[in-house]
This record gives sequence, C-alpha cells and structure tokens, in this order.
Amino acid sequence: MSSKVLVSGATGYVALWIIGELLSKNYTIIGTVRSEDKKNQLLQKFNAKYGDKFNSSNLILEIVKDIGKSNAFDEIFIKYKDIKYVLHTASPFAYGLGDDLNKEYLEPARDGTLNVLKAIVNHAPQVEKVVITSSQAAVLNLDKLNDSKFIHTEKTWNPLEWKDVNNEFLAYFVSKKVAERAAWDFIRDNQVNFKLITILPPYIFGPQFFDSDASGKLGTSAQIIKDLLKSDPNDYHLFDDIKYASTDVRDIAKFHIFALEISKLSNERIAPVAERFNQQLILNIINDNLPKFNGYIAKGDYQHEKDIESAGFDVSKSVELVGGYKFISLKQQVLDSVNQIVEFDDEFAKFR
Ligand code: NAP
Repeated sequence: MSSKVLVSGATGYVALWIIGELLSKNYTIIGTVRSEDKKNQLLQKFNAKYGDKFNSSNLILEIVKDIGKSNAFDEIFIKYKDIKYVLHTASPFAYGLGDDLNKEYLEPARDGTLNVLKAIVNHAPQVEKVVITSSQAAVLNLDKLNDSKFIHTEKTWNPLEWKDVNNEFLAYFVSKKVAERAAWDFIRDNQVNFKLITILPPYIFGPQFFDSDASGKLGTSAQIIKDLLKSDPNDYHLFDDIKYASTDVRDIAKFHIFALEISKLSNERIAPVAERFNQQLILNIINDNLPKFNGYIAKGDYQHEKDIESAGFDVSKSVELVGGYKFISLKQQVLDSVNQIVEFDDEFAKFR
C-alpha cells in the first residue's frame, strides 16, 4: 500500500506542486483546506486537470479552518492512524490581512507549526518525518541585504525577534523565523519519534499548478512578476527594491519530496536557493526574450542591473545532501511564469 502523507494548506501555490509530485509517485495524500467550498473547488480542478487518471482516493481533503487554533490537527491524526509523513506548508503569506499582527501572522505561523507537532506527539507516534516549509526569511539578516560578501548558509538565522516587528512585511518575515525556531525547540524539549526537516526557500517563482489560477491576483511572490508586466513603459529608474534570490516552485516541490525520501536527511535545515534575482533582472529577461512586450512595460535602467548588490548565499551543503541538483534558471522561472499569464489571464490577451 502506498504511504500516506499529510499536506497542510493544500490550496497553496507551493502545496499544489508538492501534491502533483506526490500523486505522480503514488502516495496517498490527506490535504487540509479551510472550507467545504475550497475543498469542492480544488477537487474539481484536479478532476479537470487529470481527467480519468485522477483517482480521488489518492487525494482526500479534510477541513482545518485555522491552523493556529489549539488542537487544530488532532482530529486528522485520530482519524488516519497510518500517516507516515507530514508536510506542513500552511502559513499566511499575504499582506493586508489586518492590523492585529499577532493574530494574523504570528499565531498561525508559530502556533500552526506547534499544533502539528503536538498532535503528532499525542496521537501519531508512527509518523517518521515532518517537513516544515520555513523560508529564507528565517535565515536572512536584513542589515546585510546589500552586502554580497555576507554569505547566508543553512546555519544562518535571521537575528530579528517578534518585539522588533512594527509592520506587515516584518510580521511575515519574523513570524517565519519564530515558527521555525519553535519547531526546533519543540523537538529538543520533547520525546519525538520523527525526524524534522525544514525547507528554506527564497522568493518562489514559476507557473501556477492549475493554468486557470494564472488569472487575477496571484500569491505574493508570483505577483511580483505579474506586476512588472503592468509597469510603466516610460519608467527608466533602476528596479532594485525587491532583490535577493529565487527558486522555481517546481524545484521547491521536489526538495520537499527529497526531504521525505532521502533517509540520511535527518534533522536538517535545507535551503533550495537557485539564483540571485532583482526586479531589474526580471525586466531585462522579459525585454530580451519576449519582444512583444517592448514599449508596453518598463525597461528600467537596463545597463545598471549588474550594479545591484544583494546579500550572498551558499547552499552547497543542501545541494550535496540531496546528491547534487540542477535548479531551473531564473530565465526559465520568468519565461514560464509570463507565458502562462499571457495565455490564461485575459487581461494580457493582446500579447497572445
Ligand atoms: P499560499 O499560496 O498563500 O499558500 C498558503 C497556504 O496556507 C494556503 O493554502 C492557505 O489557505 C493556508 N493558510 C494560511 N493561513 C492559514 C490559516 N490560518 N489556517 C489554515 N490555513 C492557512 O503561499 P505559498 O507561496 O504557497 O507558501 C507556502 C509556504 O511556503 C508558506 O509557509 C510560506 O511561508 C512559504 N514560503 C513561500 C515563499 C514564496 O515566495 N512563495 C518563499 C518562502 C517560503 P487559503 O488558500 O485558504 O488562504
């Protein structure tokens, strides 16, 4: 019988690609979603994408309205006694959620993570591995964001604490660090049977799992590319305010599967970081490779892209631990994202 995997936040950009990988490898997935409506819509989308090949007994959706509420995951582990692996991807990654930063960011990120771990300890001693989608937000030192000589590795920790948070960006950024820290503290302080892996993605780009999801407002990271497709063609300033590194969503999904399947990966932080990026570089890639956008989007300051400094990273340990890996390039991340948007978002129909 195929192994059972719990994936929290099954409607998410990253989770959907993970579920796609798991289905192709014949795992049985218990996915969590926040409402009956979301459950039905998601199952319809899988049916439409896979047709006859979709076996609904391989993807069972359960409702967890709010991961941050006490005991949020207990019922699931009581109901399914044979969950072997847990992939906890759910966490708020959006801005404009509300002024109560504790309630909107910290509690779901930190308490959501702890609720999964507590439920496993109390009800699921059979779980062998837990993979938590953390973030480079748990790694990055914002004071070094312009310093390419400061090298972030799997050992680096974001030095900010929750008391330093005074806006939504920092609320997301620090909630991820606090949540990951809480997970490592939990396994230090409790008797657990499972191994923990945390995945530390940088900005994630690349296509949506369902083409229809490419229309309208995208998730926070994918929207960065869509926003550049709406930039002002007369804008020649250097686009240097969003920068660091990016990885394709399809690679991020694969690293979650490596974390489950590679037995020597045990209590590790894994950083799948592909390439340096900044918004100017994305504009340059679009303008160089898709001439149909010339005159419709900003050129920015093409020549000075090379002068944009951003923090350094070295993830060679992570790559070595998975046995070597060739990441999808930034150019491909951008072109696959843009091509899908053009084809499936009618707002961009004139570029088809
Ligand atoms: P996403 O598309 O917004 O997915 C987030 C998922 O979490 C959704 O399924 C969402 O449900 C669920 N969720 C959020 N708050 C919840 C709550 N209180 N209770 C229950 N479910 C909740 O984001 P993503 O880009 O896939 O991100 C997935 C993970 O990767 C997150 O942990 C994020 O921090 C991490 N990450 C993302 C990036 C990136 O660039 N995208 C980079 C580094 C790390 P609804 O859809 O119903 O709201």
